[in-house]
This record gives sequence, C-alpha cells and structure tokens, in this order.
Amino acid sequence: MLSDLAHNNNLPLFVDNTVTTPFMIRPLELGADVVIHSASKALNGNGNSIGGIVIVGNSAVWNLDKFPKLREFEKFGPLMYLARLRARMAADFGSALSPFNAHLTSIGLDTLALRMERATDNALALAEYLSYNKKVKISYPGLLSHPDYELAKRQFQGRYGLMFTLKAGSMENAFKFIDGLKLALNVSNIGDARTLVIHPWSTIFLHADDEEKAASGITEDLVRVAVGIEDIEDLKEDFEQSLAKL
Ligand SMILES: *Cc1c(COP(=O)(O)O)cnc(C)c1O
Repeated sequence: MLSDLAHNNNLPLFVDNTVTTPFMIRPLELGADVVIHSASKALNGNGNSIGGIVIVGNSAVWNLDKFPKLREFEKFGPLMYLARLRARMAADFGSALSPFNAHLTSIGLDTLALRMERATDNALALAEYLSYNKKVKISYPGLLSHPDYELAKRQFQGRYGLMFTLKAGSMENAFKFIDGLKLALNVSNIGDARTLVIHPWSTIFLHADDEEKAASGITEDLVRVAVGIEDIEDLKEDFEQSLAKL
C-alpha cells in the first residue's frame, strides 16, 4: 500500500481528492496523512469561486531533517505542517478565501451529495451507453473493461466517479465531436453541475512534452468528459447526435 511505502520511508502521504471528493472516498481513513482539494470543482459545483482546502490528519509524522522549515512549529505535533501553512502561506502571503468566495463554496457544499449521486449515476449510464458505439473507445473505472474496475468497486462506495475519457480515433474527429455537442460545454473545469468536455492534448497538456503526455495517457484523439447533473436522456441524445456526424 502507498501509505505503508511512504511511512516506512519516513514520509507523509499526500492525496489529492479533488476528483473523487469525500462523497466517494476518505483518504485519511485509508492511511493518508494530508488530503488536498481544489474547492473550485465538485465541492463548489458551479465554477463560481476559486479555492483550495488542505486537511491534515492527526497521524502525520514529520521528519524535521527532511522538512527543516517545520522546526519552528514543532510544538503543534502532527499539525505542525498546518500551523506553518496558516502562519506563512495564509497570514504572510494572503492565500486565503475572501468571505464572499467562501460563502459561494459553502452554498455549493450543501448539495455535494445530491450532485455527486446524480453526476456519478449519469456518468456510468453515459459511459455504458457510449461503450456500444464503434466510433469511440471509452475509459471509465465503472466499466469492466477498465484495469482498475475492481479497485474502484472496493474503494469508491459503489460509485465510479463523474469523469471518463473518450477516444475518437483522430484529433480531427475529437475536435468535430466537441464542436458538434449542443448541451455539453467545452470548458476546462470538472465537477460542475453542467457536463463539460475538453481536448487535453491541445489545452491542459499544450506545454507538456511527449513523455509527460504518454505517462498521463494523453493522446491526440482523447476527449475528457466531466459529467453533470442534466437529464440522462438529454445527455445520451447530445453525444449520439454529435457522434453521428463523424
Ligand atoms: C483543478 C485541479 C487542481 C487545481 O485547482 P485550482 O482550484 O484550479 O487551483 C488540483 N488538483 C486537481 C486534481 C484538479 O483537478
């Protein structure tokens, strides 16, 4: 396990739980020491506020030889990293949410469970539906064809997330498919109430070299889909009509 590997080497384990959210998995219970989130995504749900969250567990052990800047916060024990973030990052550099942005995120958080239920149901239904379309290849942990299906089943509370990828066969087809969508939006966010698609090769990974793209599984024909809470029949119809034009 990753947490054993980290702890045996005297390192804390950080997990980015942005995509799965605490609705699907709680990394501290599985041995992580620090959990980080972009609060701009599913926690917010409407893309109206940028923010982030750092959660430090009580189990974190900090090796002061490896992290000497924590030494002045040693009296806070397992929470010394959090104490440094508050004193240095938040207080000195000002990386703190404004009250109004915090308010928007807090309103979004109220509906996290409802949105995640609906979006993950939609993602599974849409991924299954598209897996029968010969023009595309779908990768989603909720499909038996995914190499991590069993792991996802064990750890994700019977859900498989709101994101999948679709390979359209060529870059031209990927662009045509995105352009042909009427309901889904071409936006870089994820975890929104609306279904969002993007072509990672030409956007998020524009400045990555071939090796980095290969390591992340980014190909020219790949489209990332972050499913929202729309009516599933509307989503199927939208994807179907766009694929029909390829
Ligand atoms: C978007 C994202 C981030 C960065 O979050 P911002 O709110 O855009 O700063 C970090 N981790 C993951 C997994 C993300 O999707």
